[in-house]
Amino acid sequence: MKKILFLTLIIAAALLLFSCALWGGIETEARTDVVPDTESATRATETPTAEPTGNATEQPTETETETETETEAETEAVTLPGPPEITYDVNAHLGSKRVLIDAGHGFADPGCTSDYLNGVYESQLTYEIATLLAQKLTEKGYEPVMLRGTDSFPTDAEIRAAVAELGMFSRDDVLLENNIFDAYERTLWGNVIHRRNPVALMISLHVNALPEAEYVRGTELYYTVDNGCAEPSAKLTAFIETKLKTAFPDTRLKTEGCVWNDSFIVTKWTEMPSVLVEMAYATNPEDAELLFDDEWRDKYTSALAEAIDSYIATRG
Ligand SMILES: [Zn+2]
Repeated sequence: MKKILFLTLIIAAALLLFSCALWGGIETEARTDVVPDTESATRATETPTAEPTGNATEQPTETETETETETEAETEAVTLPGPPEITYDVNAHLGSKRVLIDAGHGFADPGCTSDYLNGVYESQLTYEIATLLAQKLTEKGYEPVMLRGTDSFPTDAEIRAAVAELGMFSRDDVLLENNIFDAYERTLWGNVIHRRNPVALMISLHVNALPEAEYVRGTELYYTVDNGCAEPSAKLTAFIETKLKTAFPDTRLKTEGCVWNDSFIVTKWTEMPSVLVEMAYATNPEDAELLFDDEWRDKYTSALAEAIDSYIATRG
């Protein structure tokens, strides 16, 4: 009897050890799946096209698409030394019902793509989704303002003239005479629009890409923690985070408050509260499908519009 009891104990212990090992294995695997990206990985894909960083020597990685590498060549000489002295009214956005929507990329800069987008580029997706967001905001009584159209954009000469007329800060060495309406130029133009008739905020829509890690998916939100509108930008981002979490409880959502040197240019140089939304990953097959899905687009833009509505209602 004692022998049987002893054997039973041995078997039970062995089973326990085996199940622990198995559980550990599963857990490790799951963890790799839900903590997919790193700082450098995100930067490697989105930074070159959206916002030159303080590191002028940063080179495109091997994994970037040809388009991204080409765009990087246009902007890699840009260095941003630090926040300019604030010469604008950081409260100008208060009370405004105008919402500036930046459909990421466009014209000479098509943004990212992947094998899952069937020849479509980020700039087309952001424009279509931005248009839908504009409709939802109109329905809620706001006045959406699109930063770019489909076929025209301000030339560098127009931007320079407006900047001079309004006495705005600008970096002449960054505002190149290349007429591609890149990240810095579109940000300046957003500020011109704001100074002429204040907007409550600017939301910049983008599509993410991480070719070296196709399993990465979900939404990422970025704002700047140390420009003149850092505090309202953080609030706006928090509202968006809450609404997206409610609408898509199973979707991975990352929020990051960036410091001056590594933050996205459209959140950094803007003179109004701003947020950059990386809606989904072009390089993930499930995310890529969602980007074309009317139901998803409807739900996603509704969540953004509700968040903007709640934020503006709170700010007054
Ligand atoms: Zn982008």
